Amino acid sequence: MPADDLAQRLKALQGQLPPQARLLAVSKGQPAVRLREAVALGLRSFGESRLQEAQAKQVELADLEPLDWHFIGRLQANKARGVLRHFGTIHSVDGLALAERLQRIAAEEQLSPRLFFQVKLRSDPGKTGFEPRELEQLWPRLRALEPLVPVGLMTIAPLGLEADQRLRLFQDCAALAASLGLGELSMGMSNDWPEAVRAGSTWVRIGSALFGERL
Ligand SMILES: *Cc1c(COP(=O)(O)O)cnc(C)c1O
Repeated sequence: MPADDLAQRLKALQGQLPPQARLLAVSKGQPAVRLREAVALGLRSFGESRLQEAQAKQVELADLEPLDWHFIGRLQANKARGVLRHFGTIHSVDGLALAERLQRIAAEEQLSPRLFFQVKLRSDPGKTGFEPRELEQLWPRLRALEPLVPVGLMTIAPLGLEADQRLRLFQDCAALAASLGLGELSMGMSNDWPEAVRAGSTWVRIGSALFGERL
């Protein structure tokens, strides 16, 4: 896809997003040159799901001003240190053991990344995350993860829901975050961001609707 298509898609998207919904450009599967085009168009925040792929792009883009890297993929325990070193925000903290590991390593590394807890609001065999009840039970522990900085909840809607069902799911996520005093909501992807935004999303994670098909 030529760069002007990216410019057009970005402009159209930005015209539709309300001010509270920031755009996380999901650049997994896109070569560094595409991110460079996106940076030239004013984007700064990029979402990646694999540590090695992201590290390679960070090296290739090291001549640019510092970018805002968000980790959105499933985080294996053995990648925790690398992810902490290479990302300022982690959207996919899906269990207590991982949260505690990140806390320990962040303290060693003197890092204070922003965290989203991933929640699973409907049964979805392919996805991980805290169940709402579990998150509430663990909250006394999860709210005290210094030097980590919990900022919000992240969710992924299961495939196959109707728009009104997705809207309700995102509203449930927003209500849960509000009940825990968390202000940020990482919700909405290329196919469902309008419902997520209606429910109050503060970070939409958009890949293919911006960059086109992934490699
Ligand atoms: C890939 C991915 C996205 C972006 O998906 P698109 O459908 O391309 O917008 C968003 N969130 C997560 C967690 C992803 O893995």
